[in-house]
This record gives sequence, C-alpha cells and structure tokens, in this order.
Amino acid sequence: MIKLNFHPTGRHFLQIPGPSPVPDRVLRAISLPTIDHRGPEFAGLGRKAIEGMQSIFKTKQPVIIYPASGTGAWEAALANTLSPGDHVLMYETGHFAFLWNRLATRLGLKTEVLSFQGHDDQFPALAGWRRGVQANQIHDRLVQDREHSIKAVCVVHNETSTGVTSDIVSVRKAIDDAKHPALLMVDTISGLGSADYRHDEWGVDVAMAASQKGLMLPPGLSFNALSARAIEASKTAKIPRSFWAWDEVIEMNKGGYWPSTSSTNLLYGLTEVIDMFAEEGMDKVFARHQRWAAGVRAAVNAWGLPIQCADPSVYSPILTGVITPEGVDADDIRKLIQQRFDLSLGTGLGKVKGRMFRIGHLGDSNDLTLLATLAGVEMGLKLSGVKLAGSGVQAGMDYFSNGA
Ligand SMILES: *Cc1c(COP(=O)(O)O)cnc(C)c1O
Repeated sequence: MIKLNFHPTGRHFLQIPGPSPVPDRVLRAISLPTIDHRGPEFAGLGRKAIEGMQSIFKTKQPVIIYPASGTGAWEAALANTLSPGDHVLMYETGHFAFLWNRLATRLGLKTEVLSFQGHDDQFPALAGWRRGVQANQIHDRLVQDREHSIKAVCVVHNETSTGVTSDIVSVRKAIDDAKHPALLMVDTISGLGSADYRHDEWGVDVAMAASQKGLMLPPGLSFNALSARAIEASKTAKIPRSFWAWDEVIEMNKGGYWPSTSSTNLLYGLTEVIDMFAEEGMDKVFARHQRWAAGVRAAVNAWGLPIQCADPSVYSPILTGVITPEGVDADDIRKLIQQRFDLSLGTGLGKVKGRMFRIGHLGDSNDLTLLATLAGVEMGLKLSGVKLAGSGVQAGMDYFSNGA
C-alpha cells in the first residue's frame, strides 16, 4: 500500500515563501457554503473583493481577479497588452524572472534580458541573483532605442527565488528619464500584501499578484492591476486571448460578477484577508514583515552563513535565502528537517539548486513560530554536520525580545 498521509502531532511548519500559512480565520471563511455565482448575494462579495484588491494594490484602476495561479497572471499581463513579435525588455534577478522570460518567448514575444554586470567577490557565479534591478542599465538601453521598438519593461518586485526586492520607483524614473513610452510591468506575485507596493503612485502599468504568498490565502487566485495606458494598449494588442481577456471581465465586474465561474470560496477568504489588513493597517503589516525578516537575518548571521541577497538595501521582507557551505547539499538539509521536525523550507530554484534554501517569514506567523522555525533549521544544520559560528536561535530571541 502506498502511504500518502503521515500525520504528525501539532502543526506542520510551512515555512516556504508561498504557499504561506493561512490564518484560521481565513480558513473558516472559506468553509462557508458555496453560493450561486449568478445570484443576488454574489454581487456584494464580488464588489468587496475587487474594491479591497484596489485598496491593497493602491490603485483606482480596474483589478482583474482570475481563478488561476500567478503564472496565469503573467500570461494575462502580456497577452492583453502586446502583439506577437513585440520587443520586451526583462531584467533577470532570479528564477522567477527567468521563467517569466520563458513564458513571454512562448507567447511569441521577442525578449531581451538585462542582468547585473558587476562582480561578486564572495560568489562570482551567483552575482546577478544576489541583487535587485539596476535601473541605470534599463535607462541606458531605452535611450539607445530611438525607434521605440521596446514595448514593455518587465521586472520582478520581490524575487522569491533569492529573497531580493527591486526598487520599482527607480525603474519608473529610468523609463521617464529616457522619455520612453514602454509599459512598465511588475510581478509582485509574492510581495503584494506583505511588501510595500503602490500601483498608481509608482506609475506601474500592469502588476501581477497571486493569493498564496503575501496575501495569506490558499493557491488559486491571481490578479492583474491595470493602468489607463495598459487598457488603451489592450485595444490594439494582437496576442490571441479569450479566457485572459480583460474587456469582458471589466464589463461584468461593474455589477460584481465574472464572465465564467469564480472561485467563490477563495473570494470568501480574500474578503476576510481584506478585513484583516484594514483592521491592522497596511503600514503595520509591512513593518511586521520587516521586523520578522531582520530577526531571521540576525539568526543567519549568528550561524555564520551567507545570505543570498548581497545588498542590504533590498533585503526581502518576505523570505531569506541562506547559502550553505561548499559541498553541503542544501536539499539534503531541507529533507532532513522536513522528516525530523515536520518543517518545510523553500528549495533552491534553477541555478542555485542545492546551494541554498529559503526561509519564509510571511503568512500566519508570529515571533514564536519564527523562533521554532529557526530552532528547526539550527538543529537540522547541526545534524547535517554544518559547523555553525554561534546560535541563531539565541540571536533571534535577542532580536525579538529587545523591543524591536
Ligand atoms: C510564485 C511566483 C510566481 C509563479 O506563480 P504561481 O502561482 O506558482 O504560478 C511568479 N513570480 C513570482 C515572483 C513568484 O513568487
């Protein structure tokens, strides 16, 4: 017999950077009976979800909600605004930027990829995956593009594979300073709800997000936030689209409905998250994640292990990437920790596979669940024979108990 379920006692520690732990309150909301998606009650739910997402994105423009994962939101953003053969400029900060580029290529777009050109003394081969977008490179490339053949600039806000954020304001400024009309597209799939994001103020044309990361929901919903220019571009864009097409959704959303069946129960969860964020205040939510991230970094520093992100000004508030010593397979450590302590950590993706693991500090967490996570990691590192400089758990306790 194949044993599918192993039921340890206590809670599973889901410390990957998405899906994140879902608050009980949200799970209870999701468990309410499914209602008629064309019935009279549904309109209130639909409108609350859309308006709530506009407030989370900080936009007055339409927000499209899809019953899909983040990958769908990537495809929707490109398919609604661009035509086959269009030239798009992407910046590779890590594995998700790499995957988005692959998706764009498969849609028939001509992609050009920029990446960090500087040197990394510690890990030369990982240089580009340890830093955020360097907006000056985008500026210089756009200035050269006198015919305006580049139609969009695509960047990842919180690179979930590395734990590095990018400064979106500087990217907007680079495009404006180059007097270039390209659309700005931002993947904030893991960031939204946990890392500061301001759609209208930052001048983003299309943003993508998904439910299962910073928004603390189960997987299954994703989002596009639009701009007037993006909607204008969608009127002439020629990539074939039907399910992803914004126009019908925007039309039906006016009444609080969608063209096809919505994820009703996930919308219950989403409206619960919207209430929770409104009760706490987004600034407090962002500060809480920054504080957790600093506590986790204090632990990693105490262990004497390198943090994947080499630029302290762009540390992710959502996850921390930890590089393991040469010759120690990070996935072996993860496996041991999962089996011994029922604690899941994020694997290294793409070219950093086996070289690092990721600790998620998002979703339904608190100081003590994070300290327990650090304890699990510390025990796992010791059991794997990794020599530690000191106790990360102690450093984490010091950080969290020092009024920070
Ligand atoms: C998770 C993630 C994606 C992909 O989303 P899925 O929900 O897995 O389809 C894309 N970009 C970033 C930054 C992500 O974290």
